Amino acid sequence: MKNQFNLSVDDIPKKWYNILPDLPEPIPKPKDPPTGPSRVENLPNLLLKECLRQEFSDERWIAIPEGVRELYAKAGRPRPLFRATRLEEFLGTPARMYYKSEFYSPTGSHKVNTALAQAYFAVKEGYDHLSTETGAGQWGTALSYACSIAGIKATVFWVRAVHSWKKDRLAFMQMLGSDVYASPSDQTACGRELLKEDPEHPGSLGIAVSEGLEMANENDNVKYSLGSVLNHVLLHQTVIGLETMAQLKAAEVEPDVMCSCLGGGSNFGGFALPFLGQVARGKADIKFIAAQSEVAPNLQGEYRYDHADHAELTPMLKMYTLGHHASMDPIRGDGLRYHAAAPVLSVLRKHGLIDTVAYPKDERHVFERARVFVQNEGFLPAPESAYSVACAIDEALRCKRTGEDRTIVFNISGHGFMDMVGYQAVLGM
Ligand SMILES: *Cc1c(COP(=O)(O)O)cnc(C)c1O
Repeated sequence: MKNQFNLSVDDIPKKWYNILPDLPEPIPKPKDPPTGPSRVENLPNLLLKECLRQEFSDERWIAIPEGVRELYAKAGRPRPLFRATRLEEFLGTPARMYYKSEFYSPTGSHKVNTALAQAYFAVKEGYDHLSTETGAGQWGTALSYACSIAGIKATVFWVRAVHSWKKDRLAFMQMLGSDVYASPSDQTACGRELLKEDPEHPGSLGIAVSEGLEMANENDNVKYSLGSVLNHVLLHQTVIGLETMAQLKAAEVEPDVMCSCLGGGSNFGGFALPFLGQVARGKADIKFIAAQSEVAPNLQGEYRYDHADHAELTPMLKMYTLGHHASMDPIRGDGLRYHAAAPVLSVLRKHGLIDTVAYPKDERHVFERARVFVQNEGFLPAPESAYSVACAIDEALRCKRTGEDRTIVFNISGHGFMDMVGYQAVLGM
């Protein structure tokens, strides 16, 4: 039985898919909070011009520059789609299971798809430096890689509580040539202020965002780069779904169920949006499931305007949110700990096009499912991707009970080579 479906380098998509014109209702515009300076007007000082243009574009297809397609090829795109033949057999399910392999990434995750595009646009616009924040570390590594390839500088503000124990990932970012600071740091006014109170301040994603934004605000050669949530980030990620669509066609199957994990929504969106666009236009019938953690079930939150960051430096976006000050217990799938879901996915959720499941915070169920996956298919998913795997296996077992021979397609957003301690701790190995 054929178990790998691949494309050639020439098949790397030539256009990103922008779902904005196909949404069931126009996406609500970003707005300012009632008090303080205008965050909306300040956006051009922080973000690259091309990213901002894409953020609000109503063109359905946006050309991928030839230079970015070359970078995608260098990063190993297109990535294979596998049929999980061994897993299907092990589960004894009548369902067919296919998975997209974003774990074949130089830095271990799908985040390189937007990092490469952003670094490319930075160079085009004459900037020699990008700043950003990172929590779990996957985004900081992806941007470090992209800036290194593009020949520009990356400064990464990394939440101190994570920076202090993920030594492998820190070394990787430094090897790529980035300046990596435990946040709060002595590089910014807001960091210095917090360090005065507590020299060992554990930091937070919100503080790290504030430091990165301050650096971009105060230096003419620096722009700020985001790794999830915003429209342009999900746009860049649609190469995942566009490739998957061509591969499913080659496999001569149509998906019934598609699932992936969702933190801010970039891998889920990248994977699902090209298909969601078809569903929104009445051209396909697919069930979409976002796999989340019960510590951050943002798709079950309220649909309202909220800040994208803790420090309230970003404009307010209309999205499903738990509130930007929600406290979320630590989990190993740290990339899923975010308070809100991307605005485009939120609109689709509001119209009933996206289902969600939230797994228990002890992570035993999802990591046991990842163990079954690695024992049968051989690839080690990132802790976040384990949620996607668990969701797909749960669906396959449901099909076993009901006897449905459905086609389940899932995305594996990254590999877990740098996260064994998480698996060890939860699975008690
Ligand atoms: C960052 C990350 C996630 C979560 O972020 P999204 O924007 O929701 O995709 C999931 N998986 C991996 C491997 C990640 O690095």
